Amino acid sequence: MEDDFNEVVKFHGHTCPGIAIGYRVAKYVKNHYNRAEDEEMVAIVENSSCSVDAIQQLLGCTFGKGNFIFKDHGKHVYTFYSRDHDKALRIYFRNVLPRTDPAATKRYLAGEMSFEERERFMKLREEAIDYILSAPDEEILEVREVEIPAPAKARIYPSIECQECGEAFMEVRGRTAGGKIVCEECYQKFVT
Ligand SMILES: [Zn+2]
Ligand SMILES: [Zn+2]
Repeated sequence: MEDDFNEVVKFHGHTCPGIAIGYRVAKYVKNHYNRAEDEEMVAIVENSSCSVDAIQQLLGCTFGKGNFIFKDHGKHVYTFYSRDHDKALRIYFRNVLPRTDPAATKRYLAGEMSFEERERFMKLREEAIDYILSAPDEEILEVREVEIPAPAKARIYPSIECQECGEAFMEVRGRTAGGKIVCEECYQKFVT
């Protein structure tokens, strides 16, 4: 096992097929996407599975920095946009379907499997992880350059005090309710 995979697993908390998928995608980008030190790369991920932790840990595209965008499409598609080159690389992780069994995973997670079933499930899972980590790029990754609009930059807005709870919040997220300017949390209490 490569050192950087161990680092990713440490960050994520466990070894699983998802983190292995993210690792292969991130590793490919690291090896094929020549970028300058100060160049900003934005990751656009189309799922919120285990895999995205590898993207954040290995590539430094993180939720907190704002160069990590989540689109809830439920697909193993990862796009990496370079601001300097105005180019994007789209990676689709394929060959994932034949190796996953959603029904079995559900039963496993619900603790409904017998000991033997569980053993078998874990063995298949291990095999899937091994496959993902060792398969040649062209077998698992469908890569192409795409044209996409430049993702919006993360912005910092001034804060104001909520007239209901007194807590500070970002002014642009302000709502009005009961004649007051309130935070989203208080607004939800007003309307429900
Ligand atoms: Zn996981
Ligand atoms: Zn409030």
